[in-house]
Amino acid sequence: MYLTSLATIARSAGLKVVEQPGWEKRGHGQMSGVKAVVCHHTAGSPAGNAPSLGVVQNGRSDLAGPLAHYVLGRDGTVYVVAAGLCWHAGAVLNNDWSNNWSVGIEAEATGTAAWPEEQLDAYARLCRALCAAYGLPISAVLGHKEVCAPKGRKSDPNFDMSTFRARVASANTTTTTTGGFLMALSDADQKFIYDKVKDIDSTLGAVYAATGGKQTFGSAFVEMMKRVDFLWSVAANTPDLNHDGKQGDVSLVNWRQWQADQEAKQTAALDEIRGQLAALTAKLGA
Ligand SMILES: [Zn+2]
Repeated sequence: MYLTSLATIARSAGLKVVEQPGWEKRGHGQMSGVKAVVCHHTAGSPAGNAPSLGVVQNGRSDLAGPLAHYVLGRDGTVYVVAAGLCWHAGAVLNNDWSNNWSVGIEAEATGTAAWPEEQLDAYARLCRALCAAYGLPISAVLGHKEVCAPKGRKSDPNFDMSTFRARVASANTTTTTTGGFLMALSDADQKFIYDKVKDIDSTLGAVYAATGGKQTFGSAFVEMMKRVDFLWSVAANTPDLNHDGKQGDVSLVNWRQWQADQEAKQTAALDEIRGQLAALTAKLGA
């Protein structure tokens, strides 16, 4: 299987996501499934947000890429690199932790400098969201240093894994408190909403200009309610992908269908009124 939900899962945690072109088809063949999440650090350059991204995606002279499914930038941005098998774990003590069965996360870190708080927060939330998506216990979140064979072959990540798992367990992945459901949408859907609201804004500006700056409270209220109604319709008609019993998570697909249905109904109602007016005109205007 290819883990083509990895971008959606990261977004469900309210994280900023960058999808590397071609990630959905990148991998050394199929994954067998997901039984563990293996955490790494890149031990890369201290400069930049994700200087190891190219190496993780394309590999190095002695090992072909992809080398992990995700790269986690210093600012908490999640780069989605691959959906198939990745060479990240190497020899392990338990087959459940092998490349075939584990999602690999390479967090950008030197291995010596302190971790930015926002990166650790994103790391925990990403792991929590992966556990939720694949039905894993928090104990399935493991450090490379814990799974490697022989013991001691690896030292990453360089933080205490028990402390980190406690943080994963308490991590908040509900989008309502991490920027709202709009932040969980894809960049394209966010742009769609932004343009829509901007359009309403410019309409408001035109109304204001047309009245010579003497816009009434009533018209301002109407325009404001248009925006509120629009956002509510988005929230109410997007699916509950993180299964918290609340809609409004990730996709606008349902909302667009809902909007199309509404527009069809309005058009039908207008046609009906136009038809009746035409009949009235034919009768009385003759
Ligand atoms: Zn590692």
